[in-house]
Amino acid sequence: MSAVPPLLARVQAQLAELEAQGLRRRLQTAETPCAPEVVVNGETRLAFNSNDYLGLANHPRIVAALQDGARLYGAGSGASHLISGHSQAHAQLEERLAELQAAHIPQVRALYFCTGFMANLAVLGALVDVDREGCEVFSESLNHASLIDGMRLARARVQRYPHLDVATLAQQLAASTARHKIVVTDSVFSMDGDIAPLRELLTLCEQHQALLLVDDAHGFGVLGPQGRGALAHFDLHSPNLVYMGTLGKAAGVAGAFVAAHADLIEWMVQRARPYIYTTAAPPALAHALLTSLHILTGDEGDARRAHLRDLITRFSGDARLAALHRLPSDTAVQPVILGSNAAVLAAAAHLQAQGLWITGIRAPTVPAGTARLRITLSAAHTHSHLDRLIDALAQLPASADGAPADRRA
Ligand SMILES: *Cc1c(COP(=O)(O)O)cnc(C)c1O
Repeated sequence: MSAVPPLLARVQAQLAELEAQGLRRRLQTAETPCAPEVVVNGETRLAFNSNDYLGLANHPRIVAALQDGARLYGAGSGASHLISGHSQAHAQLEERLAELQAAHIPQVRALYFCTGFMANLAVLGALVDVDREGCEVFSESLNHASLIDGMRLARARVQRYPHLDVATLAQQLAASTARHKIVVTDSVFSMDGDIAPLRELLTLCEQHQALLLVDDAHGFGVLGPQGRGALAHFDLHSPNLVYMGTLGKAAGVAGAFVAAHADLIEWMVQRARPYIYTTAAPPALAHALLTSLHILTGDEGDARRAHLRDLITRFSGDARLAALHRLPSDTAVQPVILGSNAAVLAAAAHLQAQGLWITGIRAPTVPAGTARLRITLSAAHTHSHLDRLIDALAQLPASADGAPADRRA
């Protein structure tokens, strides 16, 4: 028997440290489809923690389309897109996605990716690779981890600007002598629920001939007419726009896309390593997504968005929750700040005891000291589901700090 390798011993010590700080995360295993009522670890819970904003993840017509897709195209794509894995279903999906952004980006083309994480690595890598020396990236301070990693992997020169701070960004852009400037921002901030001032950002980008890369993971499907997303919501139109939307959240399936001027997309096909060196997603997913987009952009999508809007308005205006520290949010992401890790774990455990499932979010996902319940609403929730949520939150102990922590959140 050989001794424990030092690296393994060090990992064990670090895991113990995470446990002691209330920072150890634990997987919870769901036994039923993504829906408001879900069986987790053998218990039925009312969930307010998915990003299935329109309730499409278990939509019967999309599930049927996935089955049809498997019959038509089989289980796997067999290869990367540039070898033999690019199917008719992928091509049709990309055409449809491009149409949905055509009013906002001239000469638009769209490219489908296996995940949003990969799309962000790909788009940043390809754009910075055009002229790394001459390029500077300006990054909103609450940007998603995949954007941050995309900038790192691209070895980009990066300046961060404070959250929503257009004035500081203006100074940074004016002071920069870079030949190529790219401003990068989430549209809806995933852990805060507020929305970037995209119109002001675009005006600034146009003044400085900068590209504006918008990560609309939490906007596509939810914001704007037909759920076309943040560019539609703000009615933007510019060749400076590069758009990333994800298809595993409101669209209910999986994957993501980048929409931009066709030549930028063609450059990504040539250069983006997370696009080139990975097996294409199963064509059945793309086939199912065509049905998802049909629902999402049609009357049913409108009805779902209207219901979601009602739930958001009711939740954010409910006087019984006035004592909670909530962030101002007009979106389906409704955070409640608890502060310490112990407090958020205790609150999540309290809610779990009431049959709810809400996840406590801690550092490093959010800044230390701002641990929070990230409550997400979905069109699949009913008004009586919302009543249960509000009742349970209204009964949260005023300060859960120091309460014995059940570390299962
Ligand atoms: C979820 C998310 C992503 C990653 O998308 P996936 O398809 O889940 O990989 C990217 N950006 C933001 C802001 C997200 O919330």
